[in-house]
Amino acid sequence: MTNALNTFGGTATEKRPVWEAMKRGMMGKCPKCGEGKLFKSYVKNHDECGVCGQDFRGHRADDAPPYLTIMLVGHIIIPVALWVEAEFDPAMWVQFLAWLPILLISSWFTLPIAKGAMIGLQWANRMHGFGGPDADPKADA
Ligand SMILES: [Zn+2]
Repeated sequence: MTNALNTFGGTATEKRPVWEAMKRGMMGKCPKCGEGKLFKSYVKNHDECGVCGQDFRGHRADDAPPYLTIMLVGHIIIPVALWVEAEFDPAMWVQFLAWLPILLISSWFTLPIAKGAMIGLQWANRMHGFGGPDADPKADA
């Protein structure tokens, strides 16, 4: 079913592209139009898109982005740290100097990507305030 009025989510029953919305969110862009900025600061989202007017206040990312960040960063960094420990046995102060900044920087970059993906996922699936049955009907117009 196509809708001439809107490319994404023109009607309440039209399917929204999940991966496209998540990719847009990961890049910090509006999941609906891909043009407007999603975040006004580090991980603080705008109330609505400056280009298409999509309301972002309905998202419920909550603890999911930090959980995803911990899971992704932990599953990448910890095995490498264990391998370095087993293979080279560096001094503890060297490991603190190396791994703490790597963990902090990796988490710093991953968290907004995870939050953008989560907001995109919620938007595409019409979860919470993004066009579901309990959403504001004006928000999807
Ligand atoms: Zn937009």
